[in-house]
Amino acid sequence: MSNSPQTPGVAAGRLAPEDLAENFRDLHPPYDGHEAMVAADRCYFCYDAPCITACPTSIDIPLFIRQIQAGHPEGAAKTIFDQNILGGMCARVCPTETLCEEACVREAAEGKPVEIGRLQRYATDAMMHAGTHPYARAEPTGKRVAVVGAGPAGLACAHRLAMKGHDVVVYDARKKAGGLNEFGIASYKTVGGFAQAEVDWLLKIGGIAVDLGRSLGSDLTLDALTSEFDAVFLAVGLQGVNALRAGGEDKEGVADAVEFIADLRQAEDLSSLSVGRNVVVIGGGMTAVDAAVQSKLLGAESVTIVYRRGRDRMSASRFEQDLAASKGVRLIFNAQPVAVHGNGAAAEVEFGYTRDGDNGLEPTGETFRLAADQVFKAIGQKLEDVAAGLALDGDKIAVSGTGRTSVEGVWAGGDCASGGDDLTVTAVAEGRDAAEDIHKALMG
Ligand SMILES: Cc1cc2nc3c(=O)[nH]c(=O)nc-3n(C[C@H](O)[C@H](O)[C@H](O)COP(=O)(O)OP(=O)(O)OC[C@H]3O[C@@H](n4cnc5c(N)ncnc54)[C@H](O)[C@@H]3O)c2cc1C
Ligand code: SF4
Repeated sequence: MSNSPQTPGVAAGRLAPEDLAENFRDLHPPYDGHEAMVAADRCYFCYDAPCITACPTSIDIPLFIRQIQAGHPEGAAKTIFDQNILGGMCARVCPTETLCEEACVREAAEGKPVEIGRLQRYATDAMMHAGTHPYARAEPTGKRVAVVGAGPAGLACAHRLAMKGHDVVVYDARKKAGGLNEFGIASYKTVGGFAQAEVDWLLKIGGIAVDLGRSLGSDLTLDALTSEFDAVFLAVGLQGVNALRAGGEDKEGVADAVEFIADLRQAEDLSSLSVGRNVVVIGGGMTAVDAAVQSKLLGAESVTIVYRRGRDRMSASRFEQDLAASKGVRLIFNAQPVAVHGNGAAAEVEFGYTRDGDNGLEPTGETFRLAADQVFKAIGQKLEDVAAGLALDGDKIAVSGTGRTSVEGVWAGGDCASGGDDLTVTAVAEGRDAAEDIHKALMG
């Protein structure tokens, strides 16, 4: 190994392969049978359970935990999948600490919730490892639906529609299905090719054709889809990247955090990935944390997240913030980038401190610089211009509660649609609910 964390500039192979393998192992290893029983025993099986209300897909959590406790993990899995067909991925990636586990009465009483996420993984893994798919299709309806985008929203919608007997074609611009499950979620949350295994398992329902490498806006038009199909569901996510609005943004070494993460997720050999000695990540959400943590795990010597507001405004949860800190990532709050300095390539980022003023965030006038040979922008994504003719709400596609857009016969859900909170589980809920509404509209 010729490189180390101290190698100047941006370099590959900063750590030995065995250290990389150790760094990128499963964040929350699966329970064995005994551990699952012990965890399930802590549940009070509450009446009007607050954990159910806190789950965006309303999984009957006490019921599935009771099924685990009774020794029926596959029955528990069915309870989960009835509400959330991507329950396996959600068990791995949901910020449970701000959803079901935050609401758990054990959290309020003891500061230690029932570990619902890990129990959900135990149950869903049991059924998926067995290779069984618990749903059959209804009688064919003769209706055809196009789904654009094979991320969580599109896949959940497609599965529910196929169950109802409709024929579905899922289009995706990428060469692999899964959306951000495949290209975005941090590696250590979904190890072992789980995203593709989950897609393969979901497609076992039948009736779903997946057409990859087909992009709405270039290969496909909304007009053509609405005339060929009985309904269209748009689940294209957010593909555009917000600009930094700081001088020197075009310098070498300044990159989009999501692209870095996508490369990492697709890399066959982690030691082939280049990372800076000094990495600065600008942003305050999960993407910022994931880019920072994974830079550190790849062997960057120093990694700093800089967020323009205070800690309490960060959209990454406290768990994610603590995870970053535990890996040695430094967090700086109330500072925004002014300029990236360097001769061709980034060498330093200059920041200005901020404070909350009467008219929003304002500069204090004090500045500082951080050494940086790699700068990741994680300041949010935006909808790319694929929705010509559809009314927008802010910068997303305007939808009703069940995903209806302003155009008859076209629904939308997931990150590209208004409302929601840009989480995997919310995208699944929106895809599922839109499918129910599409079914009602087609059969009404
Ligand atoms: C780095 C990162 C980490 C994240 N980590 C978490 C996490 O830990 N937990 C969590 O709950 N959420 C996380 N999220 C958020 C979560 O991934 C998203 O909310 C979720 O994936 C949204 O699902 P979606 O189906 O709406 O969109 P996406 O997953 O973005 O899928 C959209 C799909 O549409 C396709 N597409 C786009 N444009 C076109 C087009 N014109 N034509 C055809 N196809 C198109 C794309 O290729 C993609 O496959 C993370 C997001 C990012 C960026
Ligand atoms: S709130 Fe906690 S204890 Fe009550 S049913 Fe849900 S998981 Fe069990």
